[in-house]
Amino acid sequence: MITQVGRINRYALFVSIFWTAVIACAFGWLYYQQWNNALNVARAEARATFEKDTLYRKWAAGHGGLYVPATDLTPPSPYLAHIPERDIRTPAGRLLTLINPAYMTRQVFQLADQEKSLIRGHITSLKPLNSANKPDPWEEQALRAFERGEGEISGLQTMDGRRHMRLIRPFVVEERCLKCHAFQGYAVGEVRGGVSVSVPLAEYSGFTGRFVAGGAAAHGFIWLLGLGMIEAGRRALSRSAFELQKSEERYRTVADHTADWEYWLTPDDRFEYVSPSCRNVCGYTQEEFYRDPSLLERIIHPASWQRYNEHRHAESEAGYPEPIDFPIITRDGRERWISHVCRTVYGQDGAVIGRRVSNRDITDRKQAEDLLQEQTVQLEQEVTERQAAQESLQEQTVILEEEIAERINAEEAIRQSEEKFFRAFQLAPLMMTISDIEDGAFLEVNDKFVELSGYSREEAVGATSVALGLITAGDRARFLEALTREGRVSEFVLKVRTKEGRVLNCSYFGELIPVSGSTRLLSIVLDVTEHTQLEEQLRHSQKLEAVGRLAGGIAHDFNNILTVIMGCGNILKMDGALADRQNEMLGQIIRSAERAAQLTRGLLAFSRRQVIKPQNVDLDEIVRNVQKLLVRIIGEDIQLKSIFNGAGLTVSVDSGQIEQVLINMVANARDAMPRGGVITIETSRERVDTPFVMSQDNAQPGRYAVISVSDTGTGMDEETVKRLFEPFFTTKDVGKGTGLGMAIAYGIIKQHNGFVTVASEVGKGSTLKVYLPLVDEKSVALDADSAPACPRGGTETILVAEDDEGVRDTVNATLGRFGYDVILAVDGEDAVAKFAARQDQIRLVIMDMIMPKMSGKLAYEEIRKLQSGVRVLFFSGYTTDFIRKRGDLDDGVELLNKPVAPLELATKVRELLDGVQRPS
Ligand code: ADP
Ligand code: MG
Repeated sequence: MITQVGRINRYALFVSIFWTAVIACAFGWLYYQQWNNALNVARAEARATFEKDTLYRKWAAGHGGLYVPATDLTPPSPYLAHIPERDIRTPAGRLLTLINPAYMTRQVFQLADQEKSLIRGHITSLKPLNSANKPDPWEEQALRAFERGEGEISGLQTMDGRRHMRLIRPFVVEERCLKCHAFQGYAVGEVRGGVSVSVPLAEYSGFTGRFVAGGAAAHGFIWLLGLGMIEAGRRALSRSAFELQKSEERYRTVADHTADWEYWLTPDDRFEYVSPSCRNVCGYTQEEFYRDPSLLERIIHPASWQRYNEHRHAESEAGYPEPIDFPIITRDGRERWISHVCRTVYGQDGAVIGRRVSNRDITDRKQAEDLLQEQTVQLEQEVTERQAAQESLQEQTVILEEEIAERINAEEAIRQSEEKFFRAFQLAPLMMTISDIEDGAFLEVNDKFVELSGYSREEAVGATSVALGLITAGDRARFLEALTREGRVSEFVLKVRTKEGRVLNCSYFGELIPVSGSTRLLSIVLDVTEHTQLEEQLRHSQKLEAVGRLAGGIAHDFNNILTVIMGCGNILKMDGALADRQNEMLGQIIRSAERAAQLTRGLLAFSRRQVIKPQNVDLDEIVRNVQKLLVRIIGEDIQLKSIFNGAGLTVSVDSGQIEQVLINMVANARDAMPRGGVITIETSRERVDTPFVMSQDNAQPGRYAVISVSDTGTGMDEETVKRLFEPFFTTKDVGKGTGLGMAIAYGIIKQHNGFVTVASEVGKGSTLKVYLPLVDEKSVALDADSAPACPRGGTETILVAEDDEGVRDTVNATLGRFGYDVILAVDGEDAVAKFAARQDQIRLVIMDMIMPKMSGKLAYEEIRKLQSGVRVLFFSGYTTDFIRKRGDLDDGVELLNKPVAPLELATKVRELLDGVQRPS
C-alpha cells in the first residue's frame, strides 16, 4: 500500500529530478547561448577578416596589383607571364615583379598559416590556376553551393585537431578581375571561387568556458538550494502527513471496525467514506458504493423511499431528524431492516461538508418485535377471551367468597371461642381440670391448679386425682354418684390435699362437656379456705359493728342520764346550801358521774363515734391517770413500769383517746406475755429531723412528745409488723382478737397529727412508740389545770328543744339559774311552732340533734326560713366529725357534746349571745 508519506517522498523525488532538469536545462541553455555567442563572435570575426581582405584585395586590384622585390618567396608569377610589365627594374637595378591580389592574399594567408593561432584565410576555386588554391572538401561543397546561388556559408570544422569557425563567401568576377583572369573565360558577375576564413575557436571557448564555469557554479548553488528546500518541504509534509496518517488510521480503525454500516456523503451525494461493515449489512462492498453513489437509493425498499426522502429533507430544515427504521434489499435479494441515524456535518468555516450516516442492522430486533406483536395480538385475544371467562369466574368467585367469608367467620368465631375458652381456662383464678370420665385421668390442668396443687402440668396430666392423693377415693365416688344422678355437680364441698400436704377447703363444680367428639369431665375447684376465714372475720367485724352500734346507743342515752346527774349535782353544789358531809357526798356523786362519762367515751371510741376534744394537756398526766385502769387490765403476772423523762410534755390531744391508745397497746403487750413479764411505759421528748420523717408516712419534722410502750413478750415477725395496723389483722384465736386494736390506735394517732413506730423481734419483745406534736409551753396554758371561771348570766329568751325530759329539765334549771327566760319544746315540730310564736323575743335556740317527729337539723332549717340570722346551739352524743359526715351540721354551727356540764353550757350560751366565736 502506498502511504501518504511514501507518496510525498516520491513526489519530492520527482520534484528534485524536475528541479535538477530545470537547472540542467537552464544551464544548458546558458551554455548553448554562450557557445552560440562564441560562434557568432567567431563568425563576425571571420566576416570582418573577410571584409578586410576583400578591401585589401580591392585596393590591390584597383591598383592592378603590387610590385614587390622578386625573391624566392616572391618569384615572378608564371600565371602573369602574359602581362607585359610583369617584371620591372628599378633604376637601382632591383627587380620588381607584379604580385596580383590573389597572390598577395595567398602570401598573406601563408604568413598567417605559419602563425598557427591566427585566423587563416584561403582563396580557392573550383578551377584553380594554382594548386594551392585547390579547395578542401568543405570549401568545395561551399563553392558548389555558391553556384546554386548561396551567398555565405559558415560552419564549425576541426582542422589540425582544433575547432575552427569557417566562413566562405564567393568571389564574383568584376571588371578589374578580367585583367588577370580573362583568359580563364570568366565573365563579369560570374562566381570564380571563394575566400574562406577559419577562426580558431580556442580563444572564444576559453572565454566561454570561464563564463560557463561561473554560470555552472551559480546554477549548482541554486540547484542545491532548491534541493534543500524540497527536502525541507518533504520532511515537513511527511511529518504532518505522518500525523495525519496516524490520526486517520485511528479514526479509520474505529470507523472500519464498526459493526454498523457507517458512511459519509458529500453535499453532492457522493460517498466520502463507507465503512467495510457495509458488506455485512447490505452485501455490497465499499468500492461499489464509491463507484456508484446511486446504489444507496436502489437498495432502499421501494415502499420506504418516500419516508426516506421525507427524512432527508426534514434534516435540512429542522436540524437533526429523528432516526428512522426501514427495510433494505441486500445484494442477495433478502430484506433486512436497518435503523438509520444521520447528521449534517459542518466544516470549520460553518459550511456543510456532508452528511454522516450510521445504519444499524436491526433485523433480529425487528423480527423479535414482529413476533412479539403477533404474540401480543394473540395474547390480547386470549386476554379478551380470558377476561370474559374471568368475569364469569369472578361472579362465581364472589358467590364463593361470600360463602368462604361466612365459613371463615364461623371458623373464626369457633377459633376465637376456643381461644377464649382456653385462655379463660388457663388464666382462670380457679383450679380447672379436664379429665377422662372413665379412668379419671387428667387431660388438661390450668395454671391455678399447678399453683395451688403443687403438681406440675407434666406430673398431673395422665394421672388421676386419687392417685396423686389430691382427693380421697370416697370423695371421688361421692361426686361421681352426684354427677351421674344430676348430670352436673355444684358446690360439692371437699378437702384437697396439696403436694406439700396442705389441706384446702374446696367447693367443687363438675360438668360433662363434649371435647373433640368425646365426653369429658370439666372440673372447677374453688379454694374457699381463705374465703371461709374472711367470712369468719367479716362475721366478727359485723358483730363488732353491731356491738359498737349498741354501745354507741347506750352511751347516747347514758350521756343524757349523766347530764342530768352532773347538772343537778353541780346546781346543788353551786347553791352551797349543803352541809360538809353532804357536799362531800355530792362531790363523790359528781366524780362518779364524770368517771361514768369517761366510760361512755371509751365505749364511743370503740364504736368510733367518740368526741374529739383536743386540749392542751401534760402527757405524763394522761399516763398517770390511765395507769390504774391498765394495772387492772394486765393482771398479776405482769409488772407495769412507768418512766417519765423530763416534765412539761404539753400536747394538744383528747386525753380519753390517747388513754384508749395506751389501753390497746398494753392489752396487746399482755397478750404477748402469757407467762408474765414487764411492760414499760416511758415518756420523753424528741426532735424529729427530716431523714427520720422521710421513713414515716405523712410525718412532719419538729419537736414531739413520745410515749413508748415496751414489753418482753413473744415479739412479732416481719409479716406481722408489716400488717400490724391493718384492720382485722390478728394472729390470735377466734374470739380472742379482733384485729381492730392497733387499727383504732393508728387512727387516733393520725387524728392527732402524730405517728407511730414499731420495733420488734420474735422472742425478744416489742416496742411501740407514739409521737405526738409538742405544743409550745410558754404560749399555751394547760387547759386541764385551768379551773373554769364562773360564767356570767343573762335575761335573754332561749328556746330549748330536747326530747329527753331529764336533760330538758336540767338544761332548764341550769339556764334558769343563770337568769335566762327559757321556752321549752319537746321535739322538732314543737320547737318550730314555739319559735314562730315568739320569734321576736327568742335570741338563741338550743336543740338536741336527734329528736322525734322532726330532727334538729330539719327544725333548724324551718326556723331559719322564719329568721335567717338566728343563733343555734346543738347537743349531741356523737362526735362532731360523725355528725358532719352525716351532713347534719353546717359549717359554723355550734355543737355541745353530751353529757353537757352546766358551767360549760352557761359559758357557751353567753358566748353565743354575746356574739363571741370561740376558735374551733
Ligand atoms: P388483736 O389484738 O385483736 O389481735 P390488734 O390490732 O390489737 O388486734 O393487734 C394485731 C396483732 O398484732 C395481734 O394479733 C398480734 O399478733 C400483734 N401484736 C400487737 N401487739 C403486739 C405485741 N406487743 N407483741 C406481739 N404481738 C403483737
Ligand atoms: Mg389487741
